[in-house]
Amino acid sequence: MAQQLVTNFNGILLYRRDYRERDMLIKFLTAEYGKKMFFIRGARKRGFKMAAELLPFTMGEYVGDLRDQGLSYINSVKTVQYFEQISQDIELNAYATYIMSLIDVAYPDNQPVGQWFQQITSALQLIDQHVAPALVTNVVEIQLLGVFGVAPELRWCTVCGRQDLPFDYSESYGGLLCQQHWHLDPHRLHASQAALFYLRRFSVLDLAKVHSINVKPTTAKQLRHILDTIYDNSVGLHLKAKRFIDQMGSWYQPLQPRSQDD
Ligand SMILES: [Zn+2]
Repeated sequence: MAQQLVTNFNGILLYRRDYRERDMLIKFLTAEYGKKMFFIRGARKRGFKMAAELLPFTMGEYVGDLRDQGLSYINSVKTVQYFEQISQDIELNAYATYIMSLIDVAYPDNQPVGQWFQQITSALQLIDQHVAPALVTNVVEIQLLGVFGVAPELRWCTVCGRQDLPFDYSESYGGLLCQQHWHLDPHRLHASQAALFYLRRFSVLDLAKVHSINVKPTTAKQLRHILDTIYDNSVGLHLKAKRFIDQMGSWYQPLQPRSQDD
């Protein structure tokens, strides 16, 4: 039997989709009940009373009629806040959209998402303040690997458990290899110690406690490469929002000064 419940909930608007002639479907990540799809009757009619409160890149507290199966309904909006920078800046927008697509793919609807509501809220707040959007995205990507069924061992060498030698990352061993065991995987990623340091650190980072993240551009590029490799090969996920970020990288390249060794 489908259950229904009229209640307050906290939500981040993940996306909106036109539905029928005058209506809209809106998916929220709720703090209390995981992701839910809402049917918003008349949302595309002129003068719709919740138009401003249900714009993309908002989060807030709402009162709704929540169903554990099928579509839910929003009765009223109590408070709402906008991620204004994200909605105005194409680059911030791209990272935020990608993060929200990842969480949408990672969990089925109507299933609790644990600490992810808070972590995604913090991620969006940092991105909205222009705080290292690419690195904040890396944190989310690394921490979601476990949800995607790829839980790399990032604490110690997967073979011997040592922590005191230089590391590398091995896809076939599912995590770190210490220098003594590098010979076991000729296809290890040959990642820099700096990139591995941040990979490990980001895997346990609570974004609510972060105010800034500073990583050298070469290290940031390596992190992007490591995560692309893991997401391509081990997760097998290719989201449209991610392709957009990749394309954006190529637009920006001509604007960067060329280094001597290019
Ligand atoms: Zn080892």
